[in-house]
Amino acid sequence: MAVIESVEQRAESFVRSPRKLLIGGEWVEAVSGQTFETINPATEETLAQVAHGKAEDIDRAAKAARKAFAEDAPWRRMTASDRGRLIWRIAELIEENADELAMLESLDNGKPFTIAKAADVVLTADLFRYMAGWPTKIEGTTIPISALPAPGEYLAYTLREPVGVVGQIIPWNFPLVMASWKLGPALACGCTAVLKPAEQTPLSALRLGELMQEAGLPDGVVNIVTGFGDAGAALAAHDGVDKVAFTGSTEVGRLIVKAAAGNLKKLTLELGGKSPNVVFADADPESAIVGSANAIFFNTGQSCNAGSRLYVQKPIFDEIVSGVAEQAKRFKLAPGTDPEAQLGPLISDEQFEKVLGYLDSGRNEGAETVVGGARQGDRGYFVQPTVLTNTTPTMKVEREEIFGPVVCAIPFDDPDEIVPVANDTNYGLAAAVFSRDISKAHRTAKRLRAGTVYINTYGVVDAALPFGGYKESGWGRELGHEVLNNYLETKSVVAAL
Ligand code: NDP
Repeated sequence: MAVIESVEQRAESFVRSPRKLLIGGEWVEAVSGQTFETINPATEETLAQVAHGKAEDIDRAAKAARKAFAEDAPWRRMTASDRGRLIWRIAELIEENADELAMLESLDNGKPFTIAKAADVVLTADLFRYMAGWPTKIEGTTIPISALPAPGEYLAYTLREPVGVVGQIIPWNFPLVMASWKLGPALACGCTAVLKPAEQTPLSALRLGELMQEAGLPDGVVNIVTGFGDAGAALAAHDGVDKVAFTGSTEVGRLIVKAAAGNLKKLTLELGGKSPNVVFADADPESAIVGSANAIFFNTGQSCNAGSRLYVQKPIFDEIVSGVAEQAKRFKLAPGTDPEAQLGPLISDEQFEKVLGYLDSGRNEGAETVVGGARQGDRGYFVQPTVLTNTTPTMKVEREEIFGPVVCAIPFDDPDEIVPVANDTNYGLAAAVFSRDISKAHRTAKRLRAGTVYINTYGVVDAALPFGGYKESGWGRELGHEVLNNYLETKSVVAAL
């Protein structure tokens, strides 16, 4: 407890002074001079004052990023090896400041400090380390071409070049991890960036900006503009931005597609999900129960890949559902600064009302609540982990992304017919299969229309593993070497010999 208190004090000194925008290597106020408040979702109290960036600030940041991308600017003259070293140094500084980053994340987002430190901060540092290896390995190819009139008389090769200035818009559910998923590959590829954190959770990204400066990142390579949706909209529409990477709701994803049309900037989108988790009768019950509970309740259900539709084959339906309900009862919901907290509150009043609204809608449409179904306490945005049964495919709770700790448990009979049911959604981010029959598990994984399929586990994320969605869950992939394609152009060079 004493450790957590001392870290809390350290984080508080960061939170106490009004936080500014990072533009061109300087911490500056918004042009309007306005600020906004962030709220601690566990207490509903004001946490920090943050600069309210708007279109004019996005413009300043995009110009600073363009200047830093100039051919003769220090960033462009840096060797690939030095770029890799710098990214590695960022990872080291994240680890050296792990406690403070985890505490900022916990206060701002509500997630347990212990989980923020063991998962979010570790994944963030790991992402930068993984990306630090790439700058020296970004290569073109030499291509034999058959062009007439002089076959064999040409030398043709490709160059991979940074796409330019990138705009990056991130959500509040994993603020630091999302910042790293965006900034890591952009830096590895030699781009410059304007990052727009979510209005609810700007603090860890701002601290990351300081650490990047400490690592020696040249001015203007990473700019951070905090603000509301209007700052994000301005970034998506800005003519001086070559590419936008967005993570958030499918609804805003659609707005970004329209906004990006002006200068036809490149776009990658990582959007919502309603991921199916299929448990066959031959599954190991214990791993299916633990996996299915974590699939939905981790991060209080605020994960784009949450396993929110739990399909269980009839012979083991009762056993799995009561097991998941038991797990739900056992989770300790508490403010993130409680060392025993396992689940934190929802992020905001808005999200809290939205999730409670889904619970009402489910009940009104005939769903049964096995466990949970209500808020916890009268302070903070805590909602009990909830298992619903007796839902149907037309109910909102079974069709729409709730983004809270609510799972619909649905029995099925025929193992051959469950895949079309699982695929019957506009989304396609993730899916899971629990079975001890390895052929069945892999065959089912192949038929599921989702960007990631977990077998006998759920939610594994790794810097090396591509992540993204089919259908309305997005465009393109993050992570792995695939993400580099989002930040690189390919240039073909043809020389007559
Ligand atoms: P949003 O999609 O609104 O927010 C995500 C990011 O987009 C934020 O940085 C936000 O900025 C920015 N943004 C908002 N409007 C625009 C715009 N018009 N143009 C460009 N950027 C914009 O998510 P919400 O916070 O409103 O959450 C709503 C729902 O979205 C959740 O209930 C959940 O279903 C889903 N969601 C999905 C996530 C995922 O990981 N796939 C993550 C978060 C939410 P600002 O915060 O300043 O408004």
